[in-house]
This record gives sequence, structure tokens and C-alpha cells, in this order.
Amino acid sequence: MTDCIFCKIAAGEVPATLLYDDGEVLAFPDINPEAPIHLLIIPRKHISTVNDLAEADAALIGRMYLAAKQLAAERGVAESGYRIVTNCNRDAGQLVFHLHLHLLAGRELGWPPG
Ligand code: 5GP
Ligand code: ZN
Repeated sequence: MTDCIFCKIAAGEVPATLLYDDGEVLAFPDINPEAPIHLLIIPRKHISTVNDLAEADAALIGRMYLAAKQLAAERGVAESGYRIVTNCNRDAGQLVFHLHLHLLAGRELGWPPG
């Protein structure tokens, strides 16, 4: 996707600090963090929303969660806790239409979310 900010980050055309990259999945800090730890985990492949997932993406989604688990452990929040969020479409407030996990940690996270 030529006009997708996360595809541009994946291609190295827009700068981001890569914290994880296994070739298929990458992670970098959110530009506007909502918690002391706020990372974004994305597939290199462009998928717009959860609605666009196919059976063939099942392993890719698994890799995204395994990356989140590793990143949380590396940052020492595996035991204290963290939240993984994916927003889908308007009512959830999705702003970037390239599938991503938010990994949030480092403070008590309210529930239910707003
Ligand atoms: P969404 O609302 O789509 O779930 O979240 C998109 C997230 O992407 C937001 O938290 C926003 O701060 C982040 N974001 C948007 N543009 C950029 C960017 O160019 N670089 C980084 N690192 N994060 C971005
Ligand atoms: Zn994209």
C-alpha cells in the first residue's frame, strides 16, 4: 500500500525505532504514547483491519502475539501486567488502517476502556 504509514515504516521510508523484527512482524514505539510502555506490533504485510483477516493469516497473528509476549518480558512487565489492544473501524477509534497490536504497560490500566 503506497499511502499507508505503517507500510512506509516497514519499508524504512518513514523512521521508527525498530524494537523487534523477525521479517514478518515488527514492533516500534507509538509516536503518541498513552502509557509508559506503548508499543505497536504490526505485520509487514498490509492487512487493513481484523475484518480483512484470512485463514492463511492465522500463523501471522500468532507471531504478533509471540512478539508481544517477548517484548513485555524484555521490559519486565510480564508479571506486573500489560494490555494488548486492537481497534477495528470507527467505533473503536481505529486511525491507522494497517493491522496492529497496541502493547500498553507501566501503569494501572483502567477497565472498561472508554
Ligand atoms: P489506532 O487508533 O489505529 O489503533 O492507533 C494508531 C496508533 O498509531 C496511534 O496510537 C498513533 O499514535 C500511532 N501512530 C500514528 N502514526 C504513527 C507514526 O508515524 N509512527 C508511530 N510510531 N506511531 C504512529
Ligand atoms: Zn500498510
